Amino acid sequence: MPTLIQTPTAPGTALIPAGELSAPDIDPAAVKVNAIRDPLLQPIAEKIMRRERLFAEDGMALFNTRDIHSLGMLAQAVRLARHGRVAYYNVNRHINYSNICTLSCKFCEFQRKRGEAGAYEYSAEQIFEIADHAADAGATELHIVGGLHPWLPFNWYTSLLEHLRRRHPQLHLKCFTAIEIDHFARISRLSVREVLVALKEAGLGSMPGGGAEVFDDRVHDAVFKGKLRSDGWLQIHQTAHELGIRTNATILYGHVETRRERIDHLIKLRELQDRAPGFQCIIPLSFVPDGSDLAHLPGPTGLEDIKMLAISRLMLDNFPHVKAFWIMQTMKLSQVSLNFGVDDLDGTVVWYDITKREGGLGNQRQEQTVDNIRRLIVEAGYIPVERDTLYRRIERDASGWRVVNSTPHDA
Ligand code: SF4
Repeated sequence: MPTLIQTPTAPGTALIPAGELSAPDIDPAAVKVNAIRDPLLQPIAEKIMRRERLFAEDGMALFNTRDIHSLGMLAQAVRLARHGRVAYYNVNRHINYSNICTLSCKFCEFQRKRGEAGAYEYSAEQIFEIADHAADAGATELHIVGGLHPWLPFNWYTSLLEHLRRRHPQLHLKCFTAIEIDHFARISRLSVREVLVALKEAGLGSMPGGGAEVFDDRVHDAVFKGKLRSDGWLQIHQTAHELGIRTNATILYGHVETRRERIDHLIKLRELQDRAPGFQCIIPLSFVPDGSDLAHLPGPTGLEDIKMLAISRLMLDNFPHVKAFWIMQTMKLSQVSLNFGVDDLDGTVVWYDITKREGGLGNQRQEQTVDNIRRLIVEAGYIPVERDTLYRRIERDASGWRVVNSTPHDA
């Protein structure tokens, strides 16, 4: 096992620099306004050049355009201004501790009820063993999420984090969606703030962005009724940011929502980032219908995936990063998306239970090797940079890995 020489950072101590939140100066050479074929995109290009915020109508014009090359050019200009030719990835391990869930969201193929075929839950010891393997394999992050388990008490989760932190102090613990945090508040009779403080004290490093789905009551009632509504999701992330816990954001697109509802979702995220900064990245999640109650829906096309990623980059002018999650978008499309505003390809993952293609027959072992991620990035014309969960650069040698205190542009 390699010696770990990284100094862990206390969770929440590194806030997002103001420069990463504001819209960057665009290189005029990166936007060829005269080459834009769709006249509706020309005023949008000029707004982007002037670093002006895009309105919902601009977002709709971007969705409705057939001029995909110009859309890509605009998203790419913003991406290059923020990150140059750097493309990030990380070495992580997902742990979905249980699929037993009190809810039954229609898009979810993952959840099972107690006693139902396929229901599972890992013991804490099993999770420790997975964490040991992840640490041995050089992971820098554990991404831990699960269903809303009906009988595990809140102290099971805090104890889990405490043990993991003691066992592997170098591993960043990115754990629990806002939906799980809401569930913990209800089962513990604590406030959301008290739950987050307790988790942070136990070792929580940051929160993933899952559970946001689409911030719209119509969509909520049609597809994930019973789940926390958008105001609750946003309030939990705001509280996390106020406590210095960085989080990510998602949108699950391509089911029953409209494009306008997607744009409204992005604007709500942007507004929260203005009020209480703390989002690191947006992860647009492409809906996979296989095996869900919405299996009759076709799911998003590749073109829609690319548009969603590029438009996220353009609408979210105060978000540092846009991530393509290759489990959902496929690695091939994720590679292409590096030219459409995306700067992060996520990580090695290793095992992912939540979304399985082919109606649940798809393989849950879903691993990318570092060599393959780097090869795809280089082939696309970018510089691969391994990051930690907080987007700090990682360097490795025979003795282990360490965080490097230089800007990624120095890579
Ligand atoms: S999406 Fe989450 S909350 Fe909804 S049923 Fe699936 S595991 Fe449960």
